[in-house]
Amino acid sequence: MMEIREAREALKLYFGYDNFRPMQEQIISCLLQKQDVVVLMPTGGGKSVCYQVPAVVMPGICVVISPLIALMKDQVEALLVNGIQAAYLNSSLTPDEQYRVENACLSGELKLLYVSPEKLLSSGFLSFLKRLQVSLFAVDEAHCISAWGHDFRPEYTQLKILKQQFPGVPMVALTATADRLTQKDIQEQLWMQDPKVFIASFDRPNINLMVKPARDRFNRITEFLDRHQGQPGIIYCLSRKGTESIADKLKRKGYRATCYHAGMSAQQRAKAQEAFLKDDVQIVCATVAFGMGIDKSNVRWVIHYNLPKNIEGYYQEIGRAGRDGAKSDALLFYSFADVMSMRSMLTEGNEKQTELQLVKLDRMQQYAEATICRRRILLQYFGETMTKNCGNCDICRNPPTSFDGTLLAQKALSAIARSQERLNMGLLTDVLRGSRSAQVLEGGYDKIKTYGAGRDTSPMDWQRYLHQMLNAGLMELAYDQNYSLKLTDQSRQVLFEGRQVQLVKFDEIKQPAEETISRARPKREQIKDALFERLRTLRKRLADEYGVPPYVVFSDSTLMEMAAEKPTNRIAMLAISGVGSLKYERYGYDFVNEIINFMTDEQEKGNKVKGATHLVTYEELKKGNNPEQIAAMRNLNPVTIYSHLATLYEQGYDDVDLYRFVTKKEYQAISKTIAGMGADAKLKDLYEALNEQYEYYKIRLSIAIYKRNGA
Ligand code: ADP
Ligand code: ZN
Repeated sequence: MMEIREAREALKLYFGYDNFRPMQEQIISCLLQKQDVVVLMPTGGGKSVCYQVPAVVMPGICVVISPLIALMKDQVEALLVNGIQAAYLNSSLTPDEQYRVENACLSGELKLLYVSPEKLLSSGFLSFLKRLQVSLFAVDEAHCISAWGHDFRPEYTQLKILKQQFPGVPMVALTATADRLTQKDIQEQLWMQDPKVFIASFDRPNINLMVKPARDRFNRITEFLDRHQGQPGIIYCLSRKGTESIADKLKRKGYRATCYHAGMSAQQRAKAQEAFLKDDVQIVCATVAFGMGIDKSNVRWVIHYNLPKNIEGYYQEIGRAGRDGAKSDALLFYSFADVMSMRSMLTEGNEKQTELQLVKLDRMQQYAEATICRRRILLQYFGETMTKNCGNCDICRNPPTSFDGTLLAQKALSAIARSQERLNMGLLTDVLRGSRSAQVLEGGYDKIKTYGAGRDTSPMDWQRYLHQMLNAGLMELAYDQNYSLKLTDQSRQVLFEGRQVQLVKFDEIKQPAEETISRARPKREQIKDALFERLRTLRKRLADEYGVPPYVVFSDSTLMEMAAEKPTNRIAMLAISGVGSLKYERYGYDFVNEIINFMTDEQEKGNKVKGATHLVTYEELKKGNNPEQIAAMRNLNPVTIYSHLATLYEQGYDDVDLYRFVTKKEYQAISKTIAGMGADAKLKDLYEALNEQYEYYKIRLSIAIYKRNGA
């Protein structure tokens, strides 16, 4: 169909992408045919493109209803950078600014208008919209319509007025919430007419999932940060005080960190957020309040300092990493103590809620203690079944092996029995390990028979085994008796009836992939990293110059592709995913230049960079040196320099004029022979076929002209 082709052209021109993701294409087709659509897609799935591309190709203006004012500003900035005319209207604008935006709407120059629901429903606004040619309504964050959901916005329930007043205008509702109840609510309350519903997978395969014991977690964090130098990330903590103290400790160690929590003033919070968006701080230590209204696509990692309350929250928080699709890390620190304190916090609340919350906490804990692929567990929780292990979680990378743990289990259970079931997990570990702590001595536990019987197993391993036994029902936890461990029928079978126990152990030698990355990388990879850093620095400088966040200039994944492909001219740069023509005009040249500079620098340092040697020639040529001079300077054969020129010309360097070195007449003669023998014929054969009349280099240059201009 013609229109989807136009949409694909717009995707390339404005966004720099060659292809739609599978659902995007179907969604856009529906909208172009004026069919209503509901989209359920995870964060980072590419929802915005679903309405921004139709907005560009359809005549008129697309009205986007969005509840988050900060996000609106962000989206409009990103659109403008891509060369798409857009604006927003909300309570943050002065009357003067409002007036200007309204005029721009009326004059027909805007393709998208973002409005808050309050603004949309304010008096006179709908009649204003009637004076425009509205092409499409996009209801973003559509789950806000559901009273069951977590971000209920009462104004959203009045949005049905849009369908009443504009029955012919198609509507798309989008959300990152997976839940089916919400989806039904959305359709009904918006009065959508038999919409097509698209539900994408909620998998985020680029996020590497990891769980580590919480012991010594601050040092583990700094180790992690050393492997992720300069990469922006978020550390989620349970308490406000926690965010402050971790940020302080990091700052004292020289990291650019700040904190963010609801106890700070609005101004302080805005400042922290802004600094993070602009890559002025690397790390935000935050309570879960942080991240709701931010669109930063280059968050490279998320750390949970404490265990989250439930999987919904956890998944939403880790989802803030890697929205650009590039590799990202999610690291969760797990301690049993966190589970205990969370439990007591929850049980202080009202009773009916508590039970559900405790069940959810249990599921979270099971995730943390998992011995099977973590992504399978997460997706299963949201009702999606994976048929394979993911290969991008710590368990997949480092699968545990099971072993006969009967003897270990007997030692632990016997210690529980002999201490009259008064030990909690920490104390039991101490007893088994033969610790002389005050608590052990005061309780007289150093006198029982199994005292010190588990000395050769580390405290960490004991903790893991005890959790496994707990999960398997081999013992119970008395929450109301100081979390002491109790025997069960099953434990008696182990102690007295010879029941076998299988436990799993984690192979400590193998390292998770993210830890092996930074060590001993091949030279080629190191050069790529170094170029990425240079491009990142350039991005930051340009971003500050234009007053936009760095990820709006180009996403991390676009920079990574540049660092790998090293495009050194316009055509090659436009082939990079995320470089649209209009963006190229603004920033492209600077990036091309930086890559050329980098490659020539490397070449000078004696590092061989593929494709760089002819660029050195190019630089010298631009300085006015002729091929013979360059050859002498670089101690190379002149034929080599001419072949550099040929390569440059083939790659599209229009300022390399080969006719300076081979006349048109010579080319005409040579090209006839090339046409006869093919452009891939050997130089020597061509040379002989031409009766040894023309120098080799002229033949090489003619091939380049022939290739580029065609026969
Ligand atoms: P969402 O709104 O669903 O969280 P976004 O619309 O912000 O997701 O898109 C996430 C990222 O994916 C952005 O960096 C966006 O530019 C990129 N993206 C979207 N569509 C495509 C596509 N067809 N090809 C490549 N990248 C895409
Ligand atoms: Zn996995």
